[in-house]
Parts: sequence; C-alpha cells; structure tokens
Amino acid sequence: MRLIFIGPPGAGKGTQSELIYSKYRIIQLSTGDILRLNVKEKTELGKQANEFISFGKLVPDDIIINMIKEELDDPKFKNGFLLDGFPRTIPQAEALDVLLSNLNVKLDKVLLLEVPDTEIVTRLSGRRTCRTCNRTFHIVFNPPPNPADCDRGICDIYQRDDDKEETILKRLQIYHNQTAPLIDFYTNKNLVAKINGTGTLEEVFQQIDSILMQL
Ligand code: AMP
Repeated sequence: MRLIFIGPPGAGKGTQSELIYSKYRIIQLSTGDILRLNVKEKTELGKQANEFISFGKLVPDDIIINMIKEELDDPKFKNGFLLDGFPRTIPQAEALDVLLSNLNVKLDKVLLLEVPDTEIVTRLSGRRTCRTCNRTFHIVFNPPPNPADCDRGICDIYQRDDDKEETILKRLQIYHNQTAPLIDFYTNKNLVAKINGTGTLEEVFQQIDSILMQL
C-alpha cells in the first residue's frame, strides 16, 4: 500500500504510523525524523535544515524533494510506504506525482487526521521526545519512562525546540496556509479519507484500520 498521512503537527501521525506498521508492515517515511537525524549528525543537509526547523518554518521545497527522491529509491519502499510529513505544499505534491509516475506506481489513500488547533497546542506543548528511540510522550497524558526503564535502550527525553508554544502557533498557521490546500488537491483525485483524531489511540486506529482493510 502507498499512503500519505496529512494532519496538523501533533495530530498523532507518528504514533498511528507505528500502529499501522505493527498490523500491516507498511514502513513509515517521516521527513521530520530524517531531517532531525541529519541535524543531530551535523550533515550538510542537517545544517541547511536546522534553522528552518527550530523556527517552525518549512524547509525549502527543493531540498525536501531531493531528499524524498533519494529515500524512495531505497528498495525497502518498493512494496509500499506511509509518507508522514510529506508532502506539505502543493509543489511537493506535484513533485511526488512525477516521482510516482516515474516509478510506475499509484497512491492508494490519503489519510487526513483531523484535530482542532486548541487540542494541538495542549498536546504539543506537553510533548516530549526520546532521542534514542524517537517515541513521543506527554508530560500529563503519557509520561515518559524513567530513562533506565525504557524497553528500547536508555531513553534520552527532551522537548523539541519547535514544540515550544510560540513556535507551535507558527507551525499551525503554516499548516493552514500551505498544507491544508493539499486536502482539495487530493480530494479532486478521490483519495482522501477523513479520520477524527480526537479519540483514544485505539479509537483513532480503528477508523484507520477499517479504511485500510478495504484497500
Ligand atoms: P515534523 O516532525 O513532521 O513536524 O517536522 C518537523 C519540521 O521539519 C517541520 O516543522 C519543518 O521545519 C521540517 N519538515 C518536515 N517535513 C517537511 C516538508 N515536507 N517540507 C518542509 N519542511 C518539512
């Protein structure tokens, strides 16, 4: 299956991607995760991307499109993928169309995860991320484990710079201005399935599961 996840930052795309992987073995490709890894390893790409990310701005389209092009060449994505955080602009979506038609494959579905802005601010300002295993937690709703108790190594919990409140508001504004137009773009291609992202993890996953079971 070839899927795209669209939704505001903090809608739960990363967490639901893990659940989708557990059941369907569809590999998530998160542009945010790849960029953060490059920043951590201080690669050329990481240096270019760092200031955009920490200010909550989008990394320029040409950089992202080249990055995705290289990633999609990896044989592990030959039988499918779940794009999380890409595309985020119309030019990126148009570039993806070209990439996929060159690979002679089609998208199966665009999952639109809907969560109101007020809830996003609550979720993201309390979000904490683990540098080691990439999982996310919430200081109130899903507290991180003690570092040594993490079942995936020693957890190294931090707050992403772009999860600070002022930056969250900027990211939401960018989502509404630049990413939300993708909803019409993919609705016109008859690909969009809406998911109410405000329930429990299981409730949200059930909606996704019933969509994927029909594909
Ligand atoms: P995310 O983890 O998906 O919220 O992404 C974190 C940050 O990485 C974003 O706020 C952007 O600065 C950058 N980023 C991730 N994906 C993209 C993309 N498709 N286009 C531009 N910037 C991106």
